[in-house]
Amino acid sequence: MSTNPGNPRAEDVVAFVDAHWGGPCAGCSIELVGHDGVLSLFLGFSDAPRCVACLAQLHGRERAAFLRHAASSIRRLACFRAGWEHADRRLASASGWPEERLPAALRMDVAPSDQGPERAPSHPAGPSDFAGAEAAFDAGDRACGELALELKRRLGLLSEGERLHLIATDLGAREDLPAWCRLTGHRLVRAEPPHYLIARRSHSHGESP
Ligand SMILES: [Zn+2]
Repeated sequence: MSTNPGNPRAEDVVAFVDAHWGGPCAGCSIELVGHDGVLSLFLGFSDAPRCVACLAQLHGRERAAFLRHAASSIRRLACFRAGWEHADRRLASASGWPEERLPAALRMDVAPSDQGPERAPSHPAGPSDFAGAEAAFDAGDRACGELALELKRRLGLLSEGERLHLIATDLGAREDLPAWCRLTGHRLVRAEPPHYLIARRSHSHGESP
């Protein structure tokens, strides 16, 4: 069974989901299901995937709200959506839907309750913004989880409010980055693809090193 043939990024997400399904959460050791894998990849935890509850806690958020927010973001992101749909199908064919851990209402084939567009901030041009950033990272055409992992690592080296000038040529970054920042709490200050300016969030979000 192949998902979205012709979209190699989506195939990578599906492969990641399958590779980690049933493995232990790096935080609490619970068995991971596919949706945990998609969110781990999206948020930059591909090196140590975690369950939704642990991911929410790391970002200082309440689990149910974090999961709803994540699902509504992932609906709009082609490659992660393919992974989520794959996880929906695989979980639906398993012995029972774990409603408590993952409400079935968050399946991608269920109409979403909130459907606001994922927008990058827009500001009048000001090239000095990028020049004034405390750090810079040319990510080339890295995409999906690979970009998130490196972005998370590099933002982790900054102090609160310091800015990273990111150059990311992958087209998916235009949609992925605003959603990623909304979920992680980092602030997308400016987006002029392929240039992005991201301010590090407060340490009070509870991220451990
Ligand atoms: Zn966990």
